This record gives sequence, structure tokens and C-alpha cells, in this order.
Amino acid sequence: MEGCSEDENGSNNSITQKRQRTSTESEEKKKRTGTLLDLDATDCPVCFDSLTIPIFQCENGHIACSTCCGKLSQKCATCSLPTLSRNRALERILELLTVPCPNAGCSQTVPYAETSTHVNHCAYTHRPCPFS
Ligand SMILES: [Zn+2]
Ligand SMILES: [Zn+2]
Ligand SMILES: [Zn+2]
Repeated sequence: MEGCSEDENGSNNSITQKRQRTSTESEEKKKRTGTLLDLDATDCPVCFDSLTIPIFQCENGHIACSTCCGKLSQKCATCSLPTLSRNRALERILELLTVPCPNAGCSQTVPYAETSTHVNHCAYTHRPCPFS
């Protein structure tokens, strides 16, 4: 006869919270809506503009937008190696990335690549009044 009297001692509350706060407050940073954009991963490190496909990179993995690539005649701004390869991974992320419309009041989420297109048509975009 086996008495199944297992005492479940489920008081294993060892919450180890590792707080990793990378303080990037020293950098000048514009406040934007959209948390993903706060990562700065979608900005060109050279011109700080929003990255658009195609994205190029040098052998060391420094990325640059196509505009910068053309301006710098395909030389990396950091190490001056040729930026001839595409960063397909980041391009794919940009393709899949959706961001909330930057307009206050608009609750739409739009594909990253189509943000500007949406803003042009968004009802919440403040347009200059044509009658003024
Ligand atoms: Zn750029
Ligand atoms: Zn480089
Ligand atoms: Zn909108």
C-alpha cells in the first residue's frame, strides 16, 4: 500500500530580477511615438534618417542607407571599407515591422515601409489649411 502523500512544497519564489538599465539619456534623443523606433535600430547611423530598403553594410557590419551609400560613393562612414553587401536581415525586419501611426489620435498600425504613405493619407495628419 503506497500512500501518495506528496507534499507539494511550491513555495519556490526565487525571483531574480536583473535590472539592466542602459542609460542613453546623455545622447540627444528626439521623443517619438512608437516604442520600436526608440531603439534607434531603424535609423541610419550616418544621417540618422529612417532606414529604407535597400540597406547596405561594410565587411565590419556597419550599416548605411542607400542615400548615404551613394553620397559616400559606397564607402563606409566609420571604417571606409566598401559598403557593397546588403543587410538582408535588417531589410527583412523592416519589411515585417509595423509601427503605430505617429499622428496623435490615430490608432492605426502601419507597415514601417508604408508609414510615410499612410501619414499622407491619414485623417489625423495636420495639413496646412488651403484657405488660409
Ligand atoms: Zn543614411
Ligand atoms: Zn565599416
Ligand atoms: Zn494615421
